[in-house]
Amino acid sequence: MDIRNLRAGETLFKEGDAADTAYIIEEGEIEISTMTEGSNVVICSLGDGDIVGEMGIIDDEPRTATATATKDTRLVCVTRNQLTDRISEADDILKLLVKVLLDRYRSGLSKMKGDNRPPPPGEVVAEYMHHGITKMRLEAELRQALATDELKVFYQPIGDLHSGKIAGFEALTRWFHPTRGFISPGLFISLAEETDLIVPVGLHVFKQASADMVRLQKVAEAAGHNPPLFMSINISGRQVINDQFLSEAAKIVDETGLPRDQFKLEITESFAIDVTAAENWIKQAHEHGFKVSLDDFGTGVSSLETLYRLDLDVAKVDRAFVIDLADNQRNRQLTRDIVAMIQRLGLEVIVEGVEERSQLEFIKALDCQYAQGYIIGESMPVDDIEALIRNPPDFS
Ligand code: C2E
Ligand code: CA
Ligand code: CA
Repeated sequence: MDIRNLRAGETLFKEGDAADTAYIIEEGEIEISTMTEGSNVVICSLGDGDIVGEMGIIDDEPRTATATATKDTRLVCVTRNQLTDRISEADDILKLLVKVLLDRYRSGLSKMKGDNRPPPPGEVVAEYMHHGITKMRLEAELRQALATDELKVFYQPIGDLHSGKIAGFEALTRWFHPTRGFISPGLFISLAEETDLIVPVGLHVFKQASADMVRLQKVAEAAGHNPPLFMSINISGRQVINDQFLSEAAKIVDETGLPRDQFKLEITESFAIDVTAAENWIKQAHEHGFKVSLDDFGTGVSSLETLYRLDLDVAKVDRAFVIDLADNQRNRQLTRDIVAMIQRLGLEVIVEGVEERSQLEFIKALDCQYAQGYIIGESMPVDDIEALIRNPPDFS
């Protein structure tokens, strides 16, 4: 970023000039004025930390006012590209607000000057409006879905390849919207993550999954299962940042009377980017009595480092490794190495996305204990899971 110094009385830009830069006042004072009916009217005076000239570079219009230094002033220059890049990366709702505020400001300025400028072209606003409003509506509806019964927790069984029994589940949330129908977690979880809604959504999942675990554990014991079942719950970055989350989750589990270590918190590599923060969070999760599982292992750029540095209990090998095991010698070798490495570190391994018998046979030969995928079962409501525990498919 460039720096510009002005002496008191020097002009930064004049009304009508083409605009290509905005300025942050690091130190000094800038007076903004405009010619109205032949006389110079001062609109405002800006000081340290204020921004000057941002409007022109956002919407490509000439300067609507003159900026003059009233003291010796030091400015940091922000180019059009630097600013528009940041705006284009911003949330649609934020873009809409910036656009509306600018239009309102410009139209107020033009009224003040007595010229009736035509309103700005509508398409851009309409586009932001469309995206922004759709998202805001969905957000409001998701908030409501939490209060009604539209968010359901389904469970995908995880099979123990040694015993041939169901060992545990992954809780996967589904939204059954009254008019839009089924909305996939891929869509609404990312929306919830952008807002703070992910925290109440996450606690809702915890509540439902804990209550259902009580039922499922009883069914399993009646069916002659010895080891306790486990429940894996997906945890997003925002839930990790929220320091209340773990204690509230622990309280929810305690109310069921189940041991907390039957619950595994699934985190992804993306929030192990800050390794120290991830280490701290895992430590806290352990102090609360939960197990921690690394989801989608092998898909990120720093998988190995994450696996070695973090104190994990479980690693889930991503579906991508399983997809073409049959005709890809390289993938077979890679899966073999990855599973062995996780085992060497003393972690439990769950291989995800197992759909075919040949894939199952391959991972069994690696002495991998757990598998998750359509061959064992898709995600389903708790009633169907009860039936599955009593009558597991043959995967041993
Ligand atoms: P994930 O944690 O990787 O979950 C596994 C996804 O793979 C699920 O999709 C599951 O239905 C699908 N899957 C499982 N087995 C197979 C298989 O054999 N073949 C194929 N092709 N797919 C399989 P789903 O339910 O659509 O969930 C998508 C993602 O949404 C999840 O990915 C998880 O990241 C997120 N998610 C779901 N529920 C929650 C939640 O309650 N909280 C949070 N934070 N994220 C959630
Ligand atoms: Ca998961
Ligand atoms: Ca996964």
